[in-house]
Amino acid sequence: MSDLATPVQQSGQRGADSAVMTVQQLVTQLASRLQRAGSADCRSEARDLVAAICEAPRFWPSLEPQAPVCDTIVSASMRAADRRAAGAPFAYAVERAPFRYLTLSVDERVLIPRPETELLVEQVLNLVRGRSNLHVLDIGTGSGAIAIALASEGDFARIVATDISGDALDVARQNAQALAGEVRTSIEFRQGSFFAPVRGEQFDIVVSNPPYIAFGEAADLPRAVRDWEPATALVCGGDGLDATRHLVDQAPAYVRAGGVLALEVDERRAARVAASFTPKGAWRTIRIHQDLAGRDRFVTAIRAGLSTHDDHR
Ligand code: SAM
Ligand code: GLN
Repeated sequence: MSDLATPVQQSGQRGADSAVMTVQQLVTQLASRLQRAGSADCRSEARDLVAAICEAPRFWPSLEPQAPVCDTIVSASMRAADRRAAGAPFAYAVERAPFRYLTLSVDERVLIPRPETELLVEQVLNLVRGRSNLHVLDIGTGSGAIAIALASEGDFARIVATDISGDALDVARQNAQALAGEVRTSIEFRQGSFFAPVRGEQFDIVVSNPPYIAFGEAADLPRAVRDWEPATALVCGGDGLDATRHLVDQAPAYVRAGGVLALEVDERRAARVAASFTPKGAWRTIRIHQDLAGRDRFVTAIRAGLSTHDDHR
């Protein structure tokens, strides 16, 4: 739990941060702000806001209604409720999102990391288990979610994370700095399109969650996604496959023999993405993996060529 939500005796020691109300009082105030904006279940949403701002479990506000909260928490919660009332997705309202074992700072400059992308990280970790001294490239890092999770859970020699968006890289760098104590490998951030920032270099793992929504599908996205998240992160041409196709076509030059290319894909196009690897002859053991809902959401492939470590489990 964040130290912003420390009990009164601790927060009181910080002078300006002395307790100003209880959790219950704060929830009531937030709920009335949310109600004025038409929120359906404003009390439960208010509790969720307080829990998120305090980095506490969701049940905490119900369990500890009399816990004192300091003015920093109160003002951060009020700001979050106002953003939520204006329609912001929950993660942007509270400016943080959970991803695997981490809490990342997020705002409108980056895509909110999705739970299914946590499984992309899992796929990568499974594919390289037991190997050491590996070099990793995360293309389109956004908030830094994939790169920072890999840096904290794996043991890699080098991690490079890129994005075309300088704004996104600012967020990713800030997250990497804030989570420096959690990572085992420091991350190099570079700006540019696809492989341009790493021209001439090779990696054992290239991972990407590229934009994969077709322009024609953008109108059907939920409003909270369509109206708030960066279009550069979501949509691309060629029926949503331009970015993925580019990655698949260019990757042979950047992935070492026995190395891994791991991509998040749209479930409607997973088979097409997997098929697009085959004619190149550069890849073998191409696999489609499902998310927890059983949807085809990831494609992984092992670079063909001689390597002593090329098991594809
Ligand atoms: N990796 C993050 C995650 O999984 O939460 C963000 C993924 S978001 C779907 C796609 C990211 O790719 C965005 O941050 C976007 O700015 C970036 N992007 C879009 N086109 C790109 C390109 N041509 N080269 C590099 N990055 C690109
Ligand atoms: N999964 C995201 C969504 O449903 C899209 C992410 C992406 O395009 N890579 O909005």
